Amino acid sequence: MSAKPEACVRVAVAAPVPSLYSYLVPESLVARVDTGSLIEVPFGRGRKRALVVEGPVPPGDAEKGFRLKAVASLVEEEPVLDAALLKVLRWSADYYLVPPGEMIFAALPPMFRHTGRSAAAKRRQLARVLWPALRWPEAETLLRRAPAQARLWTRLKSGVPIEVAALEQELPGARNALKGLVDKGLVAIEWVETLRAPELADLPKQKAIKHLTEEQAGALDHLTRALDDKGYGVFVLHGVTGSGKTEVYLRAIAHALSQDRGAILLVPEISLTPQLVFRVKARFGDGVAVLHSGLGAGERLDEWRRLRQGKARVVVGARSAVFAPVHRLGMIVVDEEHDGSYKQSERLTYNGRDLALVRAREEGAVVLLGSATPAIETYANARSGRYTLLELPERVHARPMPDMEVVDLRQVLDPIEREQVLSPALAGALAETLDRGEQAILFLNRRGYSSFALCKDCGETVRCRNCSVALTHHQRGDLLCCHYCGLSMKVPKICPSCGRGRIQLFGLGTEKCEEEVRRRFPGARVLRLDSDSVSGKGSLQDMMGRFTRGEADVLVGTQMVTKGHDVPGVTLVGVILADLSIQLPDFRANERSFQLLTQVAGRAGRGDRPGRVIVQSFLPDHESIVLARAHDFETFFLREMERRAGLGYPPARRLLLVRASHEERERCVKLAKELAALLRRFGEGRVQVLGPAPSPLDRLRNRYRWQMLVKSPSVELLQRVAWRTRQAISLPAGAKILFDVDPVDML
Ligand code: ADP
Ligand code: ZN
Repeated sequence: MSAKPEACVRVAVAAPVPSLYSYLVPESLVARVDTGSLIEVPFGRGRKRALVVEGPVPPGDAEKGFRLKAVASLVEEEPVLDAALLKVLRWSADYYLVPPGEMIFAALPPMFRHTGRSAAAKRRQLARVLWPALRWPEAETLLRRAPAQARLWTRLKSGVPIEVAALEQELPGARNALKGLVDKGLVAIEWVETLRAPELADLPKQKAIKHLTEEQAGALDHLTRALDDKGYGVFVLHGVTGSGKTEVYLRAIAHALSQDRGAILLVPEISLTPQLVFRVKARFGDGVAVLHSGLGAGERLDEWRRLRQGKARVVVGARSAVFAPVHRLGMIVVDEEHDGSYKQSERLTYNGRDLALVRAREEGAVVLLGSATPAIETYANARSGRYTLLELPERVHARPMPDMEVVDLRQVLDPIEREQVLSPALAGALAETLDRGEQAILFLNRRGYSSFALCKDCGETVRCRNCSVALTHHQRGDLLCCHYCGLSMKVPKICPSCGRGRIQLFGLGTEKCEEEVRRRFPGARVLRLDSDSVSGKGSLQDMMGRFTRGEADVLVGTQMVTKGHDVPGVTLVGVILADLSIQLPDFRANERSFQLLTQVAGRAGRGDRPGRVIVQSFLPDHESIVLARAHDFETFFLREMERRAGLGYPPARRLLLVRASHEERERCVKLAKELAALLRRFGEGRVQVLGPAPSPLDRLRNRYRWQMLVKSPSVELLQRVAWRTRQAISLPAGAKILFDVDPVDML
């Protein structure tokens, strides 16, 4: 028996395992398996899907001496990932310390992950007459003894193909009769693939834009030149709300298409931006694929296939669309690039915006990061010249920027004690708006976690003296706690800022706000939009649709209401309590507040009537409010850079968040302490380890959560320390650890 030449492949298995595995390729598959192929392999006691990342190659030294198992089957005939994208995914797995198989399968349609599932596109059978010119007398001789066939032939003879399933419904027994027609050579049956295209709600048509403003044209010129150079480049489009950024995106994408290259448009959350999707579809028609988690698995697969087959050249999607299989990628646009939802913070951590740059560098594409309020890190790179800054400082049609009025809650009738949500100023404005038959948005940034302690005299919250973030109140032990360094203290009787004694625990929700609006304005039609009131596919879009069509007068909601919507009937925007975002236990609280206020104000006055924005706060002089009101991003940026440098936060330092969780509190704390000790040991004094401390959400889905924050000037050092810690720790049963490089949400 002669020894057969053997080949083996390195694969990433769809499982949370840190390493790659080698498998033998059976002779029958050698010619068909390639790098990027989707296969099935025996794994543990069962089978798993896997992706070939290297090979097939002759077994190397690493494989010698092992009895390798063989690849079980090839799932898709064509490779599902090309080399460039595979490289980006492997880089990303290393960078974010996530299992390579998990990273790779996150980039593929979910259907590819599960064994036994047929991933074939849905196919339909169509029946079509072969001889439409055949006249009845001739057919009659052929079909005289087959009345069912004759009926069917009459039905089909116009020449329009009809789906077999539909014929069967119309004329029971049609399938059998069809067979007879096929045998006689009169009719053919063919299979066609139907790619399900997700439906979009009907939205009003936009007027075509004939001429770009001078600023838009200038920005576009930079982008088309960069595209013509066919190389990698990063641009930041800093344009105030309503300055016409979207038109610049669309024209830049059109230029890429004219070069026979494709484009990706990333949006923070697709269900919040139906208008943008609509505009893209209106511009590029069937060439657009839409990818997001709200689609069914089949729809997602079909959209993916349309891209992979080159039938669609433009994709619009949420963060994971950065991995879409676009052919000859020329352009990646990241809309609202500052938005925290580009970062996936649970389980599999990665940042879609940051990976856009990695992918573009790999494929020689141009990146455009657009925002009215760029992230501090992004703007810092633009200022230092690493990215090119493009600016749209004015609204189109010289529409004025919205005016922002600030109501000092310390001055009005003690709203907390009175349990009152609307100040007289806001209530008055709301009454006027409703009287005129116009619409209002009331915004309340409330996340589900515990309250904070606020002084009703000076408006300050109690902050950590080390980390300068707001302390959060925890029921357990009635303590105020810092989520970065773990400092905890009793709720002070006297305010540490002003020395007077009016500290009060503060919490307020959207339900309460809705209640008060209904009570005070019984005639108003009120809609509430938050993660409790919208659940399930479509419901958010339904609600926004109703509001946009004018079927409600007041929309009360969380940050969901601040993004992207363009509702011309809205003339009043009220921010119920700006302090809620200023006091978030996060070093980005100032930045988030500035962004939120700017965005929310941008919702007002988009139509022809001017808008009014009223912001309620205990801290009317806070710089996030003052500078958002002045539309002064530049000053805000400079102050924030200084503050962050002083406290050692990004971009001055890089961060790693390490979180332990367990159902039992003691085990969670013990694990966190062990992790902290290891991080300190491997950090060798070159990184700073804060904590352990309870996470702001210290209990989630029945698990206790404790965390450490590690700071360092270099991200490589953080990754090394994290890697060694992960190797060294022994994970007790039921425990989980998350390493989050460049964390965004500190929950
Ligand atoms: P942004 O994305 O910067 O908030 P949009 O792209 O939504 O702004 O533009 C705001 C409005 O101005 C839209 O209704 C858009 O159709 C319109 N618009 C944009 N550019 C022009 C232009 N050059 N001429 C006329 N209208 C424009
Ligand atoms: Zn602290």
